[in-house]
Amino acid sequence: MAQIIDGKAVSVAVKAEVAEEAAKLKEEKGLKVGLAVVIVGNNPASRVYVNNKKKACEAVGFQSFEYALEESTTQEQLLDLVNVLNRDDRVNGILVQLPLPKHIDEKAIINAISPDKDVDAFHPVNVGRIMIGDYAFLPCTPAGVMRLIESTGTDITGKQCVVIGRSNIVGKPQAMLLLQKNGTVTICHSKTKNLREVCLGADILVVAIGKANFVTGDMIKEGAVVIDVGMNRLDNGKLCGDVEFESAEKKASFITPVPGGVGPMTIAMLMKNTLTAAKQQAGIE
Ligand code: NAP
Repeated sequence: MAQIIDGKAVSVAVKAEVAEEAAKLKEEKGLKVGLAVVIVGNNPASRVYVNNKKKACEAVGFQSFEYALEESTTQEQLLDLVNVLNRDDRVNGILVQLPLPKHIDEKAIINAISPDKDVDAFHPVNVGRIMIGDYAFLPCTPAGVMRLIESTGTDITGKQCVVIGRSNIVGKPQAMLLLQKNGTVTICHSKTKNLREVCLGADILVVAIGKANFVTGDMIKEGAVVIDVGMNRLDNGKLCGDVEFESAEKKASFITPVPGGVGPMTIAMLMKNTLTAAKQQAGIE
């Protein structure tokens, strides 16, 4: 039976580290770390995420600046705001909550955020830096996954790592981070043939598909570390991962639950990135 990786506990530890460093920055350098969160429209899930980010900022002693804009906001208006925030010294990190309304080009907005304040690490400059292994910010969810794997004491070096999903925000950067830790990495997607066989070779399996209970115990190697990034809302309102937990936990050595696994880590890593941004902007790191 697998040991359950307690993402909530690990995230609390990360936030405590961040809070301690933020307090030190304030005391020794008079710096108050600031994160600006921009939300456009009334997407209920986005609202929940934004509120959670605001609460996390308060918990670690950051200043948070929230900009809740009307659904009808134009791309030019949003670009103007991003440019103002780029120049605002109180703002160390800028996060524009995705998805944006259809009439706004997300790429144009992401590209307008200063790479030094891009705490989501979505800007092409930061994506490129991750590719060459010379980065300041790691994308929050994959970075959270790495921290969870680390918490199990697993040495990634030489391990067969399989990532299911190749999105720009999870799958691709996840694969790069595992590669940088010397894993032998395979990326799978919807066109992958023999997915079950590929998964059965995985010592470390990271699943980021967006399909409830897709990966079942018979796809998991005995003793594998299984990280479930999926967040799927079932008809009964319950949150569920991409991995069928009950059958998977019989095979895995470690497994993340949903909720309480990867989810809490994403915000914790966002706080960490914002702290890093503040230190860099102050010439400390
Ligand atoms: P996405 O952009 O929709 O990408 C899904 C990926 O899964 C695609 O690469 C797709 O392949 C692949 N896929 C779909 N069906 C598949 C199949 N049958 N077999 C193999 N691969 C398949 O999703 P995402 O943004 O990466 O998110 C993935 C999941 O993680 C979602 O449930 C999301 O809610 C969750 N998530 C959680 C957090 C968190 O904080 N916990 C953060 C971000 C995302 P193709 O490229 O071939 O289409």
